[in-house]
Amino acid sequence: MTLNSKIPQGPLKDKWTDYKNKINLVNPANKRHIDVIVVGTGLAGGSASATLAELGYNVKTFCYQDSPRRAHSIAAQGGINAAKNYQGDGDSTYRLFYDTVKGGDYRSREANVYRLAEVSANIIDQCVAQGVPFARDYGGLLDNRSFGGVLVSRTFYAKGQTGQQLLLGAYSAMNRQIARGKIEMFNRHEMLDLVVVDGKARGIIARNLVTGEIERHAAHAVVIASGGYGNVYFLSTNAMGSNATAAWKVHKKGAYFANPCFTQIHPTCIPRSGDYQSKLTLMSESLRNDGRIWVPKSLEDAKAIRDRSKKPTELTEDQRDYFLERRYPAFGNLVPRDVASRAAKERCDAGFGVNATGEAVFLDFAASFERYGQEQAKIHNLVNPTNEKIIELGQKIVEAKYGNLFQMYEKIIDENPYETPMMIYPAVHYTMGGIWVDYNLMTTIPGCYAIGEANFSDHGANRLGASALMQGLADGYFVLPYTIGDYLADDIRTGKISSETPEFDEAEKSVKDRIDFFNNNKGTHSVDYYHKKLGKIMWDKCGMSRNEKELKEAIEEISALRKDFWQNVSVPGSDKQFNEELAKAGRVADFLELGELFAKDALEREESAGGHFREEHQTAEGEAQRRPEFQYVSAWEYKGEPKEALLHKEVLEYENIEVKERSYK
Ligand SMILES: Cc1cc2nc3c(=O)[nH]c(=O)nc-3n(C[C@H](O)[C@H](O)[C@H](O)COP(=O)(O)OP(=O)(O)OC[C@H]3O[C@@H](n4cnc5c(N)ncnc54)[C@H](O)[C@@H]3O)c2cc1C
Repeated sequence: MTLNSKIPQGPLKDKWTDYKNKINLVNPANKRHIDVIVVGTGLAGGSASATLAELGYNVKTFCYQDSPRRAHSIAAQGGINAAKNYQGDGDSTYRLFYDTVKGGDYRSREANVYRLAEVSANIIDQCVAQGVPFARDYGGLLDNRSFGGVLVSRTFYAKGQTGQQLLLGAYSAMNRQIARGKIEMFNRHEMLDLVVVDGKARGIIARNLVTGEIERHAAHAVVIASGGYGNVYFLSTNAMGSNATAAWKVHKKGAYFANPCFTQIHPTCIPRSGDYQSKLTLMSESLRNDGRIWVPKSLEDAKAIRDRSKKPTELTEDQRDYFLERRYPAFGNLVPRDVASRAAKERCDAGFGVNATGEAVFLDFAASFERYGQEQAKIHNLVNPTNEKIIELGQKIVEAKYGNLFQMYEKIIDENPYETPMMIYPAVHYTMGGIWVDYNLMTTIPGCYAIGEANFSDHGANRLGASALMQGLADGYFVLPYTIGDYLADDIRTGKISSETPEFDEAEKSVKDRIDFFNNNKGTHSVDYYHKKLGKIMWDKCGMSRNEKELKEAIEEISALRKDFWQNVSVPGSDKQFNEELAKAGRVADFLELGELFAKDALEREESAGGHFREEHQTAEGEAQRRPEFQYVSAWEYKGEPKEALLHKEVLEYENIEVKERSYK
């Protein structure tokens, strides 16, 4: 098969405008006869559902939580980017586009990213109109902060709860449509298969998670907005429920997957404390605006801190290595996430880690307490304030900006981060890979779309901070509602789609067979037993550093683990009740297939990109020799700015390329 990304002709900056001017539309009266299924109520699915319903389509929306507003997007902390240039610091649509493509190691689809940068400003207007309480400055204007990999302040935020506030906005827009009858909401429903009729996506099979009933839902188009699959690693910053099932089922019905192995490893997470942990917690990247990252300069001090014979606060400035500031002076602590993660891992691997496991670096706010405190003392006309007073004033400012994050850290680690530096370490956070989509956000199955984190399109090998919320809302509010019309314009005379067809029979049967298997298999191991084992293989052999030998081992091990799972898994309870273990069994079964695809992709991708590096050629020189076209991968680390010309090559990796068929059973 040849992938065709359908990128419109013309200069980058005109593509979206020209395309919208010429795209097919469905008139308002005809929209009433068209049904669309949306799987997911996070920022992508919630905004898409509300907008499609507002336009007049009949929308059926599904989520597995008890309410749309508990989608994982609620966890997003730090903020959302938009090229508003409110700070007058040189931002522009082009600069946001440039930063995103560069931050993604030049592996994003440029046309999509330019469109994303263009519509970013609309998102903020839309959300403000909905009443989203973005932070404001003293004069009442919307405030901004900086995120990694950029030299401007373009991130809009609502304390450390930006996702929650944006989701409440999308949810209230949805509720208006639910009340009007334009959205039919299916909470606690899990999509377990896609139904394809005559080559087109025509519906889904869903399970009512409360009663266990298997249901058929038909529509003219299906939109997958099911989020990311970082939990394939077992430990990640994602919500426990986040999973790959919807995306994976769509893949198995014929939709191609792109870049499955590109995972974002976020540098500022609370370090793992032991083998029995089931969740990792993010400390927002926004903390890098004010926190400085360091490890001790000497191995002796690192050891003394690890065995607690020395406190970090006892080390003087010249005994500390602020390694990001040292290596990347232009960006300092705000380098992109992949760069910060790789640098932290490098220091810890070299023996400078600062917690018991040796896998932690410090994130220190002492300098900010002092800087803000001095400023406050001046503002309040305090003459000769004591050092304690200055620190107290500075801490209040930091508390106002990140108080909830500091509180969360203290609850988990039982140390007061106002008194001693936080400890952080890289962790799995986001999946750039996902279902391949064209410029319309349509997968390779006609009528099946993928938006938000579930698709692959915008972030290349590494996503810059605060750009997932931007992409989810851009897709849902401003892109899909246009592009889906181009496809649905051919469906205005199709009439209702029936769910009484052999294709629905077959999909329903395969869903029921799998549930029956889990119900009846009298195995010996829990679902988590397999999930943990998979996660360990993934982190050890397909994590940040990768090599051919271990990737091959990972493929073998995952395959063997999957066979064991299908023989020995044990699922308690029945399928006629709310049964989280049963739901999890299906999700882990899919992770066990996705994990293998992931490892195969990593093996074939003989390059270092984003948060991953191939050990065989980790130096810039090694990489350049091996794949001259990817020299710039290491530009952040070794060569300063990448070559400008590369940014403008319009033919990208994912356009018109031959795709190999793969099999995972
Ligand atoms: C801790 C944390 C903090 C973050 N902070 C930021 C930030 O500050 N800024 C930023 O830009 N990004 C941030 N991100 C990333 C961002 O939150 C996510 O990428 C984004 O919210 C994903 O949105 P989504 O709509 O694509 O998917 P989600 O919000 O994950 O929603 C998925 C939806 O799909 C539904 N679903 C999934 N599978 C099925 C199925 N089989 N059947 C039915 N329903 C299904 C779920 O019920 C849910 O409603 C953060 C991520 C984490 C983990």
